[in-house]
Amino acid sequence: MAKEITCNRCGKKFDIWDTQENFSINTRLGYGTKYDGDDLELDLCCSCMEKLIDECVISPIKENT
Ligand SMILES: [Zn+2]
Repeated sequence: MAKEITCNRCGKKFDIWDTQENFSINTRLGYGTKYDGDDLELDLCCSCMEKLIDECVISPIKENT
């Protein structure tokens, strides 16, 4: 069985759709942030990813036609 993933933003356990989409960001945070040198492991469920996209001033969505 795959390891259980929890959404960092809302605390929801990933369901099959969240797991399939697998929105995750793994990166090292640099000196430009207050977390300088720490590692970021961010997992988002589908609805939190949608909220994040909706909060963007410049949409990160590139529509495929
Ligand atoms: Zn969430």
